Amino acid sequence: MTEKKSKGQLLEEKLLWQQKHVADLKPNYQEEAFAFCEGYKEFLDQGKTERECVQFTLDKIKKAGYVEFDESKKYKAGDKVYQVNRGKAIIISTIGKEPVDKGIRLSIAHIDSPRLDLKPNPLYEDTDLAFFKTHYYGGIRKYQWVTIPLAIHGVICRSDGEMIEINIGEKEDDPVFCVSDLLPHLSAEQDKRTLREGIKGEELNLLIGSLPFEDEKIKDRVKLQTLKILNDKYGITEKDFVCGELEIVPAHKARDIGFDRSMLGAYGQDDRVCSYPALMAELEVKNPKYTTMCVLTDKEEIGSTGNTGLESDYTMHFMEYLSDMQGVNSKTMLRNSKCLSADVNAAFDPTFPGPFDKRNSSIMNKGCTLAKYTGSGGKYDTSDADAAFIGEITRMMDKHGIAWQSGELGAVDQGGGGTVAMFVARHNIDVVDLGVPVLSMHSPFEIVSKIDVYHTFKAFNSFANLENK
Ligand code: MN
Ligand code: MN
Repeated sequence: MTEKKSKGQLLEEKLLWQQKHVADLKPNYQEEAFAFCEGYKEFLDQGKTERECVQFTLDKIKKAGYVEFDESKKYKAGDKVYQVNRGKAIIISTIGKEPVDKGIRLSIAHIDSPRLDLKPNPLYEDTDLAFFKTHYYGGIRKYQWVTIPLAIHGVICRSDGEMIEINIGEKEDDPVFCVSDLLPHLSAEQDKRTLREGIKGEELNLLIGSLPFEDEKIKDRVKLQTLKILNDKYGITEKDFVCGELEIVPAHKARDIGFDRSMLGAYGQDDRVCSYPALMAELEVKNPKYTTMCVLTDKEEIGSTGNTGLESDYTMHFMEYLSDMQGVNSKTMLRNSKCLSADVNAAFDPTFPGPFDKRNSSIMNKGCTLAKYTGSGGKYDTSDADAAFIGEITRMMDKHGIAWQSGELGAVDQGGGGTVAMFVARHNIDVVDLGVPVLSMHSPFEIVSKIDVYHTFKAFNSFANLENK
């Protein structure tokens, strides 16, 4: 016998908003989400740099019939095109039945992640050990990057103009690299430092060799021996490092977390955890009403600057090529366009509740996070999305049974962060941040819930078909 609900209980049901727990969603939610994340793990393991993510994307989309965009050509509804920006960013698009001045559906995520970059003159020897000097990229907590196995990924443009690809530390029998730290027996002085200064930037030196070149007349014999190995393998000399983009990333692979395997731990999930769902949703687009664009961009972690970041006009130029091609007004196209700025949010961490406002935090397993604003110190440097547009997106998600929650990046004045949303908003495009809650964000091993990843994919999927009001 079910008890009759009281007046107050009925009113509570009607008026209060309780985020549904994932266990109350439809029964097969788990299988679908887990299966989706198998592909995601491949993406994480094969794409640890922006260049590798572009390559992974190219392999996928070429099989799906996407062709390289040519601005001198005309495209018809249903055609699938792509454009690569300097090997580090990519636009993937399906032409809609409506002309582009009726609006484009944009999903934008970034494929760069915090890491250690090699300095332009990195190689040195000290006390019979060879090292690379590094300069960290993006917001890292430096103490997290010592005493873990690291891999080197990237390119060097050799003096003969040849682009050399380097990827060491990923295969089982590859060597790995490491930044050392003091032993606890001798850390008394270092222990007095603040956590922020525990490891300093100039202490992030990568250990890369220890054997000398066999010639006593040479001063830096370990440095020379290391360079000889690199020259034998890649044909490079010390000067070539200046023309390199070499990134030091954790060598570990993506792994399931928990007895129930409900979570996933890996390096670089900010923002590959949004890039992959956005890419998969674009791949599923067939004959859309409105043109869709998925943009996987670079440089978000250092403020979206540079010609491969969203501060560059490359995305807007692509849109303008489309409006020129169709002979429609580009300003009208921008005004009618809608964008999901796909980026992660901080998941509430019960071990460290301090910097969160629990009522406005994302909780793991409650679906994708919609963030009206990010920024810091009184909403500085954010896009603060428009209420009407948030309404359109939340109605869309409710209609399609997508688990979502509202989230804020930490409590007021506790810090903050940014996304690409403000660089989209400046072009008069409707935009809001939507993505996956992450634990230990920007660490070498970030954690997400598989259910949240899957529901983020579902959100992008529905958004591709979102009608104009
Ligand atoms: Mn991000
Ligand atoms: Mn980030």
